[in-house]
Amino acid sequence: MTGTVETFEFQSESRQLLQLVVHSIYSEKDIFLRELVSNASDALDKLRLESLRDSGLDADTSDLHISLETDTAERTLTVRDNGIGMTRDDVVELIGTIAKSGTAEFARKLKEANDAKDAAVSTDLIGSFGVGFYSSFMVADRVTLVTRRAGEKEGTRWESEGEGTYRLQPVEDAPQGTAVTLHLKPVDEEDNLHDYTAEHTLRSIVRRHSDFIPWPIRTEVEREED
Ligand code: ADP
Ligand code: MG
Repeated sequence: MTGTVETFEFQSESRQLLQLVVHSIYSEKDIFLRELVSNASDALDKLRLESLRDSGLDADTSDLHISLETDTAERTLTVRDNGIGMTRDDVVELIGTIAKSGTAEFARKLKEANDAKDAAVSTDLIGSFGVGFYSSFMVADRVTLVTRRAGEKEGTRWESEGEGTYRLQPVEDAPQGTAVTLHLKPVDEEDNLHDYTAEHTLRSIVRRHSDFIPWPIRTEVEREED
């Protein structure tokens, strides 16, 4: 069961950064997965810590893990964790805003690199600044995030095309933790957009970029019916 959908505008620095990321000539698009897996891993760390500190926390810590779920028919990839999750206020604050200092300066340099079609500089900039969650929009034209904070009843669904706005909706039956679903852009090898619904592609990116993650990372591929 879900509630009313409300539309919000990204804070202007976030909007600017998103535009640059969406239209980036950044060559290493695969790193979006490292960013999402790293956020999931942080969320599992936080839940473990909080459950040790607060024995009354109503949370399930029995099988903490990350899963990568794909749907080839829908062309989606979901990165799911059963970690700490986010409240609605967390989502607005953490996902709708870029609080990092130096964002304006970073955006200016990135725009210069993009305008000059300088993929190497653009790659260095994004790599060193770290666009985190927003890197999803390099490979997806729509991103849906469903999350529920451990110990809370109600969950939140966030969705955006990475343009000016995002939508929020209360969700009654969200599992604990966070699921980020990427509605993938078409595969374009020339543009370094690989097939992120293919298990071997995901496995190899995880091996290359997320080898040090201390939590289990499971891959579940939904195959089309023959
Ligand atoms: P960073 O990880 O550097 O803080 P991100 O853009 O990757 O920047 O994420 C922003 C924030 O959103 C995180 O700091 C975290 O608070 C929240 N967040 C993102 N993904 C998750 C997740 N899977 N579970 C819980 N919180 C998350
Ligand atoms: Mg991060």
